[in-house]
Amino acid sequence: MPKAQETILEIDLQALKHNFEYLKSRVQQGTQMMGVVKAFAYGSDANEISLFLQDLNIDYFAVAHAHEGIALRNAGVTKPILVLHPQAINFKLLIDHCLEPSLYNAKIFNEFIAIASQEDQTHYPVHIKFNTGLNRLGFSENDVNYLISKLKENNCIKVKSLFSHLAASEDLNEKDFTLNQISSFKNISENFIIKLGYKPMLHICNTSGILNYPEAHFDMVRTGIGLYGFGNSKKENVHFKPISTLKTIISQIHAIEKGKSVGYNRAYKSDGFMKTATLPIGHADGIGRQYGNGKGFVHIHGKPAPIIGNVCMDMIMVNITHIDCKEGDEVIVFGPEQTAELLAETVHTISYELITAISKRVKRVYIK
Ligand SMILES: *Cc1c(COP(=O)(O)O)cnc(C)c1O
Repeated sequence: MPKAQETILEIDLQALKHNFEYLKSRVQQGTQMMGVVKAFAYGSDANEISLFLQDLNIDYFAVAHAHEGIALRNAGVTKPILVLHPQAINFKLLIDHCLEPSLYNAKIFNEFIAIASQEDQTHYPVHIKFNTGLNRLGFSENDVNYLISKLKENNCIKVKSLFSHLAASEDLNEKDFTLNQISSFKNISENFIIKLGYKPMLHICNTSGILNYPEAHFDMVRTGIGLYGFGNSKKENVHFKPISTLKTIISQIHAIEKGKSVGYNRAYKSDGFMKTATLPIGHADGIGRQYGNGKGFVHIHGKPAPIIGNVCMDMIMVNITHIDCKEGDEVIVFGPEQTAELLAETVHTISYELITAISKRVKRVYIK
């Protein structure tokens, strides 16, 4: 790759292919793969990523909001798309674009039936979500009879899948809790299927669910973070390749005398002679202020350079006193070696938050 000449997010599609194939190798043949491409495919680019995965013959996509699904349809995605968290105001649009809603409570369920029947739909595919312990979205076990009676009253919707979501699939200290979620999902679905009279697909696993609970793959698995190159543990990370590298360059180097300050509010004060580099990336690009004042760091010629002072909107300043570098040199914020997970840990957050925050202002560049 040519060296970066501005701030870019470089996306390696071969790494994406590797991650997809690795995840596929961890599930039984015939288990369907759903690519979770919400939030711009975790801060990369939902259209490019989805079209590439579609060419690899992924089975399904998931997004959070209806508008994310509409954007995928407009980009040429033809595979089924589950909308995980739709709102009634978008139901007509959702139907117009053949998007499949997750129905998670009686209100949204009845609102969807009303719109689907207004739109003269028959057997419109929907996904029923059950809460098995996350306590975020989903029907409870006690709602099964109500749902079945409603489903038998009309034929405008058809249940394409039953699903649930794990609360702590990456945390093996919570294994009992997770096994309990899995067994409660199994019981609910068995009961539901007997009463319904046909068998929808079942799914409960996210990426860490795929890796840690092979007995719970059911008919489909939903993978997000794994596709983007993170296994959520040291043991699993070795099998994945982070697909994105956030790169920037050194705009200017300063020699700072002892006692001088750097950046807004004079937050950094030098206690000796030092060199700093100013980089064209800031909190408007997704490097939050919490990474400032010595917490986060970037890499220049393979060496760590801590962020000093406050993160500005468009810039950060880093300490390069011990690095041999010059203006125009490339800087790695995160990538396959200095991972987003490690940078995120410096401020006690997770890779998910850091990568999804990389703003639209940062140019995306693809390695094919
Ligand atoms: C975001 C999300 C996923 C993907 O989770 P990963 O940990 O990124 O694999 C799966 N299912 C649901 C319901 C989600 O909201």
